[in-house]
Amino acid sequence: MSRGVLYLVGTPIGNLEDLSERAKRILREVKRVAAEDTRRTAKLMQHIGSEVPLLSFHGHNERSRIPKLIESLTSGEDIAVVSDAGNPGIADPCERLVREAIAAEITIVPVPGPSAFLTAIPASGLSAERFRFEGFLPPQKGARRARLEALRYESSTIVFYEAPHRLSQLLEELESSWGDRSIVLARELTKMYEEFWRGSVGAARAEIEERPPRGEYVVLVEGAGPEGALSDEVVARIVREELTGGSSMRDAVKTAARLALRKEQEVYRIVKGEAD
Ligand code: SAM
Repeated sequence: MSRGVLYLVGTPIGNLEDLSERAKRILREVKRVAAEDTRRTAKLMQHIGSEVPLLSFHGHNERSRIPKLIESLTSGEDIAVVSDAGNPGIADPCERLVREAIAAEITIVPVPGPSAFLTAIPASGLSAERFRFEGFLPPQKGARRARLEALRYESSTIVFYEAPHRLSQLLEELESSWGDRSIVLARELTKMYEEFWRGSVGAARAEIEERPPRGEYVVLVEGAGPEGALSDEVVARIVREELTGGSSMRDAVKTAARLALRKEQEVYRIVKGEAD
């Protein structure tokens, strides 16, 4: 008996018109749809006239669900996975299922739809040439700080997801870790109150103090540039940290030059200036 196919189906992040014809067809044709929130997906299924049965599949039950899904696929059933919105697997469960399906030699077919971060980037006005998707920061304070610290020298546009009740905290952390960079708050994408707020992190903090955040947000932050976060002071600090970590002066300067997009002679000049 031939095996079933696992379809990863992208669904709208707000506007139902964004559901593709192909996604509709697959959601009508498969044997079962594994959905993060069955009540929410039931509305989508009703909208497209699909009567395919739904099965709940979310972060809390994936471990017990996966073997059953693999068994159904192995016995020849085609299954579609959807998340509440956007692409399954993007800040949503599905990664483990995909890995186990690959191990079971199941064919995986992606059916792309909108993702909040890909919708936000081109309209943000920040560089879309290179970007880094970070999704949600971890909930614990220390882990959030550590993540931001690790990204301090990232020169690509950095993209986060954040819940409205944590937005203020995120902005405060961004300002204290990276300084006052350019930022875009992309809110309620593809929905009635879609909005792009553009400015600096400091101004964004003032803005949300005045107008408490509501709805869903993608937060896009300008990457570190040679004349941005990586001031002479920061360059000198990198060298100091590298030396403390046991690097030779030559290696420390090399690392700082690479991270700061500066010439090694310039870094030597900065270090020498500090020592004088
Ligand atoms: N799988 C989704 C995707 O492909 O984008 C992401 C799901 S994640 C659990 C939910 C987060 O995505 C929200 O907290 C928000 O940060 C972002 N998001 C989802 N829909 C959005 C929208 N319409 N406008 C802005 N952000 C959105």
